[in-house]
Amino acid sequence: MADLLREDLMKRADDVLVEYDAKGIPAMVFFKVTCPNCGERVIFREPNTWHDSVECVECGVTSDVDRGGFMLVAGTGIEVFKQLLKEEAQQAHSS
Ligand SMILES: [Zn+2]
Repeated sequence: MADLLREDLMKRADDVLVEYDAKGIPAMVFFKVTCPNCGERVIFREPNTWHDSVECVECGVTSDVDRGGFMLVAGTGIEVFKQLLKEEAQQAHSS
């Protein structure tokens, strides 16, 4: 999927989430953007959350972003993901 402008991207993500919700399937999306500095793909770690700037894990530069894509997590996979996020959060607190 090519990167979409933020406005179109939000709409697309909303449509997908509404669609899954209508089917009774839990779903969430993770937005991802391309680092304007080095071209690395960066995924925002919070589910269903967009940021207007990104700190690239690869080059360390923080850049404004206005377009991107998203990754959908749905169904049973979502519980695995939630658990991973929870563990990561706990590790972050203890360090
Ligand atoms: Zn970068």
